Amino acid sequence: MTATLDRLAPGSTIGILGGGQLGRMLAVAAAELGFDCVVYEPEADCPAGRVAARCITAAWDDQEALAAFADCVDVVTFEFENVPAPSLAFLEKRAIIRPGLKSLQLTQDRLVEKQFIQGLGLETAPFAVCNTLEDLDGAVAAIGLPAILKTRTLGYDGKGQFRLSQPSDAAEAWAALGGTPAILEGFVPFDREVSVILARAVDGSFAAYDVTENVHQGGILRTSTVPAQVSDALGDQAVAAAAQIAEALDHIGVLAVEFFVVGERLVINEIAPRVHNSGHWTQDGCAADQFQQHIRAVVHWPLASTKRHAPSVVMTNLIGKDVDAWADLADQADTFVHLYGKRAVRDGRKMGHVIKI
Ligand code: AMP
Repeated sequence: MTATLDRLAPGSTIGILGGGQLGRMLAVAAAELGFDCVVYEPEADCPAGRVAARCITAAWDDQEALAAFADCVDVVTFEFENVPAPSLAFLEKRAIIRPGLKSLQLTQDRLVEKQFIQGLGLETAPFAVCNTLEDLDGAVAAIGLPAILKTRTLGYDGKGQFRLSQPSDAAEAWAALGGTPAILEGFVPFDREVSVILARAVDGSFAAYDVTENVHQGGILRTSTVPAQVSDALGDQAVAAAAQIAEALDHIGVLAVEFFVVGERLVINEIAPRVHNSGHWTQDGCAADQFQQHIRAVVHWPLASTKRHAPSVVMTNLIGKDVDAWADLADQADTFVHLYGKRAVRDGRKMGHVIKI
């Protein structure tokens, strides 16, 4: 174990918490730079485990397994922000963690995240805390409709969300989310959605990819397109906001910030302290993709160029049965297919993506 700020040498081992597609693509990128990966994931036969040197299948609160994981890696990173904070805190005493606990804790809870963003002087959608149905009724009166009720924790891909159009929707929304602590967010009448994918290195330097324009359907990302249809000034402002957030988190690695664009105003929707679906286009659109960039930051290598080498790039997610079209997609010479090796196709499940340049 090298608990120093030195660059990790090829042959070192990177621990990845989480075994989904993001962990899988991180493990492939790490292998390309000569590193081995050990994946830690509660579910057996996970997508990342099948491309990593080793996979530890154990629960998030299994301290014996977490200690064994820490013992066999030189640095730990995570593929998603829902790793329980106590597990990361436990590992932090035994290993170098990049990014650190702060990035995880401030993005696990929508309320904490929004307060953090506003504390930096950046704009979010209006929101109100809802711990009871009465709170929700009050929030509807204060914020107005339409609005979206979102669970504070563990939501992704539109899960844990309910859109309210009229006050009488409140009881149904509250029941649909199971009465868990939530926030009501005012609906932002956005012109478009964009995101910034940025990497921050141990020395505080950062590199951002081109601003990406995203289209969601049913709360799930459908396409990411570069270049985004925004002015240079707005693009620069988005990158500056993402850099400010990364700096405030003392974040090391890739970080994504999703924005709503309203005229020439930027409203921050969400921060993801990790590689992000809206950065997948970099795999075929840039010389060094977000996965390599994250690994470089985590092993304390300098960041690579984020230069795009195609005039335009479109990434389309393959969701559920979309993946059945793999043979037709593979026939198209300018369309690059990326599949996650998931055993079962389910509605709404991200199975892969294609990148057209
Ligand atoms: P989220 O999981 O919170 O990022 O939400 C997924 C998608 O739902 C977003 O990318 C938007 O397309 C839409 N959405 C979420 N919150 C809002 C909001 N407050 N106003 C408008 N659209 C939203």
